[in-house]
Amino acid sequence: MATDVKQDKLPSTATGQDVTGAQRDQQAKDHHAHSCSSEPRAKHIPRPEMVDEKSRIIWEYVVPVAAFHLVIPLMFTSYFFSWWGVLFLPIGNYIFTSMGIGAGYHRLLTHRGFDCPKWFEYLLATLGVCSLQDSPARWVLVHRVHHQHSDHQPDPHTPRVSAYWSHMGWMFVENRELSTVAAYDRYCRDLMKDKYYMWLTKGINWVWVYILHTIPFTIAGVIAGLMLASTTAGVVQITAQVFFWGVIMRTVYTWHVTWAINSAAHMWGYRNYETREDSRNNWVFALLTNGEGWHNNHHADPRSAQHGHRWWEVDVTYISLAILEKIGLIRNLARPNNNALSRKTL
Ligand SMILES: [Zn+2]
Ligand SMILES: [Zn+2]
Repeated sequence: MATDVKQDKLPSTATGQDVTGAQRDQQAKDHHAHSCSSEPRAKHIPRPEMVDEKSRIIWEYVVPVAAFHLVIPLMFTSYFFSWWGVLFLPIGNYIFTSMGIGAGYHRLLTHRGFDCPKWFEYLLATLGVCSLQDSPARWVLVHRVHHQHSDHQPDPHTPRVSAYWSHMGWMFVENRELSTVAAYDRYCRDLMKDKYYMWLTKGINWVWVYILHTIPFTIAGVIAGLMLASTTAGVVQITAQVFFWGVIMRTVYTWHVTWAINSAAHMWGYRNYETREDSRNNWVFALLTNGEGWHNNHHADPRSAQHGHRWWEVDVTYISLAILEKIGLIRNLARPNNNALSRKTL
C-alpha cells in the first residue's frame, strides 16, 4: 500500500518539474476512458489477479479498523453517550468527508472537476487525510483503477467478488499490482509530482496528520469541560466524550458511508444511464454522503462535479462547490455533459 513506496524507489517523475494544468487534465481524462470490452461479464468474478497467496495482510489497516470498531459499544454506556456527541457525526461527515473526500480527493484530485487556488486544494486534501482513508495519491490511484476497470476483474473493489470484499475486505490484503512505483507513476503521476502529496504518501506521514488533527478536538473538549463541569472528573468525561464522538465514532461512521459507495452503490438502487458496470443511484447513501451516492450518474459522466442530475437528487457537496464558485473561490466547475449523457439515458 502507500507505505510500500520508499523514497529511493519513487518514480523519477516525482521530483521533476511541475506538471502543467493541461497535462493534469489529460491524465485525469485518460483514466476516465473505459479500457475494458463491453462483453457480458460473469455474475461472480475472482479477486484481482495480483491478490494472491503472495499478497500480505495489510496489518496497518486491519489493526486500526478493528480497534476503532471494538470501542463502538462504549456509545451505549452513560459515561460516553450524549446527544450533542451524536451531532458530531453529520457535522464531521460534512466537513472532513464530504469536503475532504467527496470534494477534495474525489471530485478535485481524481477527476479534476473544478479549479481552485493551491492553498484551497491542499485544505480540501488535508480534510480528506483527517478521514483516515489513506493518502490522497493512494486514494486517487485506487479510484482511477476502479473507473478504468469498473466491475471487471482488475477493479480493486467490485461487489462481483463479494459484498464484503467491495465494502472493506479489499483493503486488508495487498493488491501487488497497485503497490508498485509503476502503478503510482501510471495512475497518479500528477499527484506524485506535487511535493505535499509526495510527502503525505511517504511512510505513514498521512497518519501523523490524522493524529495531529485530534489535538484540536482534545483542546476543545477540555475547554467545553471547564465551562460545563464543576469537577475534574466532569472535565475528563466531557473531554473523553468529545474525543469519542468527534474523532473515533465520526471516523467509523464516515468510513462506512464512503465504503458503501463501493459496495451498496454498485448493488442496490436505480440507474438513469446505461453504463458498462453495475453502478447505481442509491438514495440512502447519497443522503448520508451528501451526494456521492448518485453513483450511476457519476460513472456516466465522471468529470462532472455535479453528481445529482435530477431535481430530486440532492447533492449537498455540489451545492457547496457551486456556492464557492459564486463567491469566486473555485472556477470551471464541471457540470453534466447533457449531449453525451443523452446517448446513455435509459
Ligand atoms: Zn463505482
Ligand atoms: Zn469517481
